[in-house]
Amino acid sequence: MYDVLVIGAGPAGCMAAKKSADAGYDVLLVDKMDLPREKSCSGILIQKSVQMVEAEFGKIPEMTFSHPQINRGIILTNEDGKTFRFESEGYNIWRNLFDHYLALKAEEAGVELRTARAISCREKEDRVTVNFKDWEEEAQVVIACDGARSTIKKNNMVTSNNTNPIITYQTFCRGNVDLEADFFHAFLNPELSQYDAWFNVKDEYIIMGVGVQDPSLMKTYHSRFLSFLKTNHNARIDSIVKEEVGIIHHITPEFQVDLGKGRVFFAGDTANLLNPLGEGISSALASGYLAAHAIKSSDNPKDMLNTYKKSMEKDIAYMIRQWKFLGGISTRFRCFLD
Ligand SMILES: Cc1cc2nc3c(=O)[nH]c(=O)nc-3n(C[C@H](O)[C@H](O)[C@H](O)COP(=O)(O)OP(=O)(O)OC[C@H]3O[C@@H](n4cnc5c(N)ncnc54)[C@H](O)[C@@H]3O)c2cc1C
Repeated sequence: MYDVLVIGAGPAGCMAAKKSADAGYDVLLVDKMDLPREKSCSGILIQKSVQMVEAEFGKIPEMTFSHPQINRGIILTNEDGKTFRFESEGYNIWRNLFDHYLALKAEEAGVELRTARAISCREKEDRVTVNFKDWEEEAQVVIACDGARSTIKKNNMVTSNNTNPIITYQTFCRGNVDLEADFFHAFLNPELSQYDAWFNVKDEYIIMGVGVQDPSLMKTYHSRFLSFLKTNHNARIDSIVKEEVGIIHHITPEFQVDLGKGRVFFAGDTANLLNPLGEGISSALASGYLAAHAIKSSDNPKDMLNTYKKSMEKDIAYMIRQWKFLGGISTRFRCFLD
């Protein structure tokens, strides 16, 4: 039996696993995909994420960076065409390489890393059984970090309100757009998306994406966004190299953070954590860290979970403040101010 079994080797899972191993626990980290795996993401690592990673994993290696290596912040254009420039330096990384680096560091710290798809978990009085396709494992505590589509949460818990997520669709193109390459650009004009539309640059690719509630409309909105970039920012698209579909939570004022139940903790996207404009790596890292920290605090799972919930209060309050801030500059998100 493991002390801690972590499901999902994204930022939340790698942080939770490494911190648990550092505390001397016997840890199994599973991911359904062979690593390095792809994860649809813009790969902007804000300063808070950089600090947490560098404090726990060491200096982020150059091979994980895409060009331009430094992201200088976000330029947001609201529904009225008003532009806001938020400058704060972070990194521009490739998620497959970055997450792989985190997983290898966790392994170095003593974590057992395995490719395996967890199906569900069953809690007993003194342990949790995690079911895989042909076998099962037992652990004192499970930290589910299996992302926004968490199977573990779906198959185990009476769970929270992730019934209406935002579907993201982005294309990696060759070409040029006259927008600053070292900023992430977000557009809230409702003609361009049902959530936000964005532009960023990674190595030789220009990336254009849209968030929608109705997946059948993602290409319609995407082509409107391309036309908008052509008209307003001299976009020239030479070729489309790759398309990606992803998912983020649709955070609303009613949406609840869910940190788990009994011996099964949730962290990262699984816990419904997400900051405005789809920034989720910082809360994934913070919650993975605090989940592992809480396990150390007691022998009693109930106390551990309470400690985890208490220690997350500051991060959750910060997340809510950020959504309210967005509400102050965008009509689409004004509901956060009510
Ligand atoms: C288009 C897009 C752009 C984004 N851009 C940014 C950005 O620039 N910056 C930012 O901070 N955030 C961004 N985000 C959000 C960010 O990607 C997530 O918030 C972050 O990845 C959450 O980390 P996590 O560890 O909780 O989950 P994930 O990174 O999703 O990791 C979950 C892991 O669990 C594994 N898994 C899933 N199911 C199982 C299972 N049953 N068994 C075993 N393993 C399983 C998956 O393979 C995956 O490796 C973006 C999201 C999208 C969709």
